[in-house]
Amino acid sequence: MSKSHVAILGLGIMGSGMAGRLLSANFPLTVYNRNREKTLPFEGAGAFVASTPREAASKAQITISMVANDAASRDVWLGDTGALAGAAPNSLLIECSTLSSGWIRELAAHAEAQGCRFLDAPVTGTKPHAASGELVFLVGGAVQALEAAEPVFSVLGRDTIHLGPIGSGALMKLVNNFLCAVQAASFAEALSLIDAGGLDRAKALSILTKGAPGSGIVKRVADRVADNDYAPNFALRWMAKDLSYAIAEGSNRNVPLQTAAAALSVFQRAIDTGHSDEDFSAVARLSSNRPKP
Ligand code: NAP
Repeated sequence: MSKSHVAILGLGIMGSGMAGRLLSANFPLTVYNRNREKTLPFEGAGAFVASTPREAASKAQITISMVANDAASRDVWLGDTGALAGAAPNSLLIECSTLSSGWIRELAAHAEAQGCRFLDAPVTGTKPHAASGELVFLVGGAVQALEAAEPVFSVLGRDTIHLGPIGSGALMKLVNNFLCAVQAASFAEALSLIDAGGLDRAKALSILTKGAPGSGIVKRVADRVADNDYAPNFALRWMAKDLSYAIAEGSNRNVPLQTAAAALSVFQRAIDTGHSDEDFSAVARLSSNRPKP
């Protein structure tokens, strides 16, 4: 069976890995990125470079968006040059960015009005997983649409989990990242206390990562601290974005997320001190920025 033509909107850390993976699997590919420079390697590798999301979607049977936040998603899907304006009826539109479930439902209604099928399918996994096809898709939407997406999801990911109606994937992803961010923020504060108390950092990190607090996320942040490497796999400002979306999801359902609010203030301090574009694990650098008593 011939492979569907896929369009990827957004060639950031995640979208570029996913696009590269689709090219390696010989999918006909169109790419779009706001900053055109990021499209150059894909043009060289045989992808068609669209000058607007509308043009990208008009070429494709499956259009995938992987952009920063709700505002970026609105920009790529809506308006005269937006992907919805170019998408053919019955084409499959997939939003993989981590977004609010409210915007996802609004976007799904636009897609339906256009006669398109739609899935929200945010992912777990980070830069290396996007490039190696080891993402996990958290999917909301109709089973038939998910079946149509499977040939692409199976190249991009190691698992696909259907959570329910449109918006369920988005909500699950925000719950996931809320829990990750709270642990990272707690770890940052723990490190400040370790340093302020004059404990041996290496011994303390070993105790924490090998003991009960040593979750996957705590280990990941501790590794970055040990290597003093904060090159972004997942930018700190996007983790803060996810916390703020999670807090809003909670407040819309009368579920105050107090630990998320506290974690967001820790992440905000990291943003205010210049760590916004670094990996989210740079939240742990707050310890070295702390004023001495
Ligand atoms: P990124 O590297 O910062 O890339 C962001 C992308 O969004 C770029 O292509 C950027 O285009 C585009 N963009 C931003 N604002 C835009 C706008 N107004 N109009 C059009 N395009 C716009 O981010 P990323 O790490 O790939 O993350 C993408 C999404 O995946 C986010 O929702 C993030 O939360 C989620 N996510 C990330 C990870 C991870 O580990 N990195 C894991 C899971 C989920 P320009 O190049 O022109 O700026």
